[in-house]
Amino acid sequence: METRVSLQEKLYDLFLLDQQVRGLRTRLDAATRRLTLQDKKLGQLRQQQAELADQFKHAQAEVSTLEHQSNDAEERVTKLREQMNSVRNNKEYSAMLVEVNTLKDEKSKLEDQALAKMSTSDDLKQRLEDVKTQADTQAKLVESAKTEVINAKNEVGVQLNDATEKREAAASLIPADILATFERLADHYDGETMGQIEEQDRRRREYTCNGCYMELPIERVNAVMVKPDTLVTCPSCNRFLYIKQELKAEIGAK
Ligand SMILES: [Zn+2]
Repeated sequence: METRVSLQEKLYDLFLLDQQVRGLRTRLDAATRRLTLQDKKLGQLRQQQAELADQFKHAQAEVSTLEHQSNDAEERVTKLREQMNSVRNNKEYSAMLVEVNTLKDEKSKLEDQALAKMSTSDDLKQRLEDVKTQADTQAKLVESAKTEVINAKNEVGVQLNDATEKREAAASLIPADILATFERLADHYDGETMGQIEEQDRRRREYTCNGCYMELPIERVNAVMVKPDTLVTCPSCNRFLYIKQELKAEIGAK
């Protein structure tokens, strides 16, 4: 003989399966989210690494240019000194001496600049190495996050498929308009779609919804009790109301 299942019981079944699916999906999502986050960090570090490598290359090139310029000045001084040895004219000699001194000043400035650039270049090299180490460590974290996603899929995947199928079957038993409201509530309350009726004081007929803790009008409690094929909602939070069989039996016995 087939047992008749009421709308409220069907909704309760759907509610439990919906929570199961959500729970399993959360585990998968958490692993995927961790992977996305670690991967993003790695991307940022690799970009930083590339930028520093570029800056380091440029600094090295500038050092080399400054050193060349300094050597040119040096060579020019050497040549001028040779020429000065053979010059007999005082005026010409003085002019050459001025040029030599100017070149010496210039060479000294170039050397200072080259030294400063070298120090910048060394700093960049150090930072580049640091970032590379960080990026390599991060790459390992990405690899383990990938493994976690695969593991989570292996562990959860079968259960999730099974629970999803059962949830679909349970959903197919609910009238379309009620199901649409259920789905909306389920998303809004993250699976806490149903409010269980809790008894505060039987003598004074005080009952609350455990979804929002607000007191329920006694008519709603009665409706849940005597009209199991009617959808009854909490007037405060709109959750679908249900009552535990034990409490129902206790109240009914009175
Ligand atoms: Zn409520």
